Amino acid sequence: MRIDLHTHSTASDGTDSPAELIANAAAAGLDAVAITDHDTTSGWAEARAALPAGLRLVRGAELSCRSPDGRGGYCTVHLLAYLFDPDAEAVVADHARARAQRRRRLATMAGRMAEDGFPVDADELLAELPEDSTAGRPHIAMALVKAGVVSTVDEAFERFLNDRGRYYVPSSRTPVESSIETINSAGGVTVLAHAFAHHRGPTVTAEVIKELAGLGMAGVEVDHPDHDAEARARLRALAEDLDLIMTGSSDYHGTNKVLRLGQETTAPEMLDAIAARATGVEIVTAS
Ligand SMILES: [Zn+2]
Ligand SMILES: [Zn+2]
Repeated sequence: MRIDLHTHSTASDGTDSPAELIANAAAAGLDAVAITDHDTTSGWAEARAALPAGLRLVRGAELSCRSPDGRGGYCTVHLLAYLFDPDAEAVVADHARARAQRRRRLATMAGRMAEDGFPVDADELLAELPEDSTAGRPHIAMALVKAGVVSTVDEAFERFLNDRGRYYVPSSRTPVESSIETINSAGGVTVLAHAFAHHRGPTVTAEVIKELAGLGMAGVEVDHPDHDAEARARLRALAEDLDLIMTGSSDYHGTNKVLRLGQETTAPEMLDAIAARATGVEIVTAS
């Protein structure tokens, strides 16, 4: 039984469409795969429609949240949310709030650039965005490419849009405590992603994980390509201690990163534990 519970499609920053992701998961010999795009469920329907016999689909998302780091400060954490009802009131409200925040942030950055004479118009940018798209810096970057200010999106980030640049506005993230509550209230199950992947940036302490577990977080991702042996051992011990679900996943992004589907896997009894806790939506099999 091969189970991979953390993958991305073109619904966020992966390169496979949801249908291609499913086809590749089947080709990789997986028995179950989760689609966990960043802050969106927009790939769920296409993934479900593409599901072949023999492959189970776990619908999920990877939420970017703000968490106390356990050292007196804050850091960004990623919370995997599985099998929640996307139409639950709290989820819909959260989504609308995050979407409005992203649009405000984009408008502020574009406005600052326009003041300095760059040919970007915040109102125009927002008007052109599809209703449910994730507004962000790439949209300003593409406008700069279109206007001939830079030749690539990467160049726009390097010169103007990175977090050290003068036009940068930090995003305001949902507190992780409130995301756990939202997902739980929508019948979902939360698992803290790559908690000890130190080279990705600041991480939380074990004490924070204990607190989040106390708030209803169900599990931790133990086997992740960015975890070294020591990180895995510490997380496994912590999970055993706190009676948390342990998962293993590839964090596949298509050709964006060199991670293979099924590179890390989750034990069947752990997926059973997730399914047993969830009351939002079911694991899907091809009909
Ligand atoms: Zn992540
Ligand atoms: Zn991810």
